[in-house]
Amino acid sequence: MLIDRTMVTPFGTSPTPNARDRATDQRVSAPIIDAIRLVLDVPYAAVVFPTSTPTQLGPNAQRIAAVVDSAIGEGRPVAVCDTLGPHSVDGTPAETPVRAVIAAPFVSPQHGCGAVVAFDIVPRDFAERDLAILAQFARCILSELHLSERADTDDLTGLTRRQPFTAALGLLLHEFAEHETPAVLSIVDLDHFKRINDGFGHAAGDLVLRLAAQAMRRVLGPDAILCRLGGEEFAIALPQYTLNMALPVLERTRRAIGTLAVPEHEGIAVSASFGVAPLNAALGTVSAWFKTADAALYTAKQSGRNQIRVGWQTRPDAETGATHAADQNGQRWSGLSIAI
Ligand code: GH3
Ligand code: MG
Ligand code: MG
Repeated sequence: MLIDRTMVTPFGTSPTPNARDRATDQRVSAPIIDAIRLVLDVPYAAVVFPTSTPTQLGPNAQRIAAVVDSAIGEGRPVAVCDTLGPHSVDGTPAETPVRAVIAAPFVSPQHGCGAVVAFDIVPRDFAERDLAILAQFARCILSELHLSERADTDDLTGLTRRQPFTAALGLLLHEFAEHETPAVLSIVDLDHFKRINDGFGHAAGDLVLRLAAQAMRRVLGPDAILCRLGGEEFAIALPQYTLNMALPVLERTRRAIGTLAVPEHEGIAVSASFGVAPLNAALGTVSAWFKTADAALYTAKQSGRNQIRVGWQTRPDAETGATHAADQNGQRWSGLSIAI
């Protein structure tokens, strides 16, 4: 019987991987994956990182992960053919039994160890030449990851640019819709930045932008997604943070920016205003999320700068037609923004 191998998915009904994993793996363009499938004549190929492997590869995750781990551990391509059997590790029949796996490792400066993996659901042997071909594809993937990282990164501050940041926000919205995973967005705008440029020169302004970005990263840690939206405007996404968790760290960030010492320019006083918007059920789009944080930022600027304001998207009340702010539990708030 001819098996239509493309009809069987090895990915099963896996839980949604987190936004960072998805963003990472989506950097590898489909044509490379398609080329691997064509050249090696396999139905499936994927780029995996140890952190994302278990959720992405569904029911066969463990056996594929074992081959990936061995390729990464040995630092060379590895193939395991038809010794795996049609059963998953606990002895029950696997949903989509993988019968042959080939993996080639790479080390990315940004993402750490990863591997390109290809697998088949019919028994087959991979030749030395297949190992060499996949190793070459691993080099292509590494180069593509490097290029896309550069394209996604702001040269001056090293932070993420607007477009990939917006894509990450889209994934956070999706995760909120699927699993009610909280997240908080903050837009940060340096106060009276033009005065710094005018008073101390553009190079000093650039230095302040770099120092502010470093301060944000230092205080917020590696899990925060930091973006330079443009000019002296930044954005922070805090995945899995509720508003109550986010406000203290954002306040520490505001203070860190407000106490920045600018080498060779002791006279420069830096501060920033923050507009904050937690995800809630009323926010259906990235643009609405941005607008809500932006409105809160506007309030912070109008209220004297160097402060944090929180905004909530409003929805008309079904009965009265009046608008109310609501948090992610549907709880209503009497004001559009609050000061902390
Ligand atoms: P506000 O408190 O209302 O935000 O005032 P502001 O002066 O910070 O805002 P405004 O928009 O008036 O000025 C922003 C300035 O940022 C103007 C622009 O020349 C400067 N700028 C934009 N990009 C860069 C950059 O990459 N480097 C430097 N040094 N300056 C920049
Ligand atoms: Mg400004
Ligand atoms: Mg601005």
